[in-house]
Amino acid sequence: MSFYETYKKLKNVSIQDIFSTITSVEIKKILQKKKLNEFDFIVLLSPAAVPYLDIMAQKAHENTVQQFYKKIELYAPIYISDFCVNQCEYCSFSITQTFKRKKLSLSEIQAEANVLKELGFNHLLILTGESKTHVPISFLKQVIKMLKKQFDSVSIEIQPMDTTEYGDLVASGTDGVTVYQEVYNEETYKKVHVKGPKRNYQYRIDTPERACKAGMVKVNMGVLLGLADWRKEAYYLAMHVNYLQEKYPNTQIGLSFPRIRPNLGEFEPVVNVTDQHLIQMMLAIRLFLPDCNMNLSTRESPTLRDEILPYGVTNMSAASCTAVGGYVSQSQTKTVNHQFDISDVRSVEEIVTMLKHKGYQPI
Ligand code: SF4
Repeated sequence: MSFYETYKKLKNVSIQDIFSTITSVEIKKILQKKKLNEFDFIVLLSPAAVPYLDIMAQKAHENTVQQFYKKIELYAPIYISDFCVNQCEYCSFSITQTFKRKKLSLSEIQAEANVLKELGFNHLLILTGESKTHVPISFLKQVIKMLKKQFDSVSIEIQPMDTTEYGDLVASGTDGVTVYQEVYNEETYKKVHVKGPKRNYQYRIDTPERACKAGMVKVNMGVLLGLADWRKEAYYLAMHVNYLQEKYPNTQIGLSFPRIRPNLGEFEPVVNVTDQHLIQMMLAIRLFLPDCNMNLSTRESPTLRDEILPYGVTNMSAASCTAVGGYVSQSQTKTVNHQFDISDVRSVEEIVTMLKHKGYQPI
C-alpha cells in the first residue's frame, strides 16, 4: 500500500469536527506530553491552540536544541534549466509563460558552483524546471559527479522519477531529493496543474517514497502554502512524513514551508496564510515530528526568518538566486526570469553574523 491509499482514508477524517470539541484542559495536557500522537497534533493545529503558541514555541525550541544542537546548515540553490513541460498556475517557469529559456552547460554550472564555493557553501540544491528532454538523467549524473568533487552534499529538485532512476542518481553521488506535493487536496491539485505530466496526482504523491526506496539519504517535502486550507494540508503532510519515517527509518526526512510569492503569471494565493498561521504549523509539526529537518528559505522576510529560527529550524538557504545562471551574471536584473521573487536578500556574511549573534553555529 502506498501513501496514496492512506491519503484516501485520511480525506474522511474531519479535523473540523475534532476542532469543535477541543478544550483548554486537553491542550495543556498535550503540552506536558513527551511524545505526541495524531490526535494531539490535530489539536495543536486548531484555532483553540493559538493562545498557547508561546508555550509551544518554548517547547519546540528545547526539543530542537536537544535533537539537533544549535546548528544551522546553510545551503544555496543552483538553477540549471528553466525549461518546463508543465502548466502550473503559480509558477513563473510554467510552459505558458513566454520568456527566453536557458539550460546551462557543464562549464556554466561549474562557474555558478565556483561562486557559491567562494562564498563558503558546502551544500547545494540543483534545480530545474520539469523537462526530461532538456535535462535528461544522463546529464544530471554528469552534473552531480562534477559537483561532488567540490561539495559535501548535492541534492536535486527536478521532475519526479522512477525508483530505478533515483537509484542511478544515488550511485552518482546524489544525497537528497526535494519534491513538494504543492497541494494534497486532489481537486485543487487538478485545478492548478492544468497540463503536463505533473497532473498525475498519484505519481506525485508517491514520489518521496520512490526516493526513499532508492536509498536517498535525504528527502525534503512540503506544500505550497496558499493553495488550500493550511490546517488540512499540514495534517496530510505530517501524516505523509510519519508514514515514511516508520517505513524508511534510515532516510532523513525534511520539510519546507513555502508560501506563494510574486510570479510572472500574477497568481494570487487562494487562501491567506498569515505569519501566525505559518508559525503555528511549524510549531505543531516540530512537536509532533521531533526528528524532522526543518528548512526555512529566502522566500520569507529577514524579520520573520530571524523570529522563527529558534522554533525548530535546522536548515536555511542564504543569498539565493532563483534564476538560471544568476550567480555569475549577478542577475537580480530584468534580463533573466526568476522562478519567484525572494524576500530575504541578505548576504551570506550577514546571515552568518545573525546566526552567531543568536548563539547558532552555521554549517
Ligand atoms: S512548479 Fe515546477 S513543474 Fe510547475 S511550472 Fe514551475 S518548474 Fe514547472
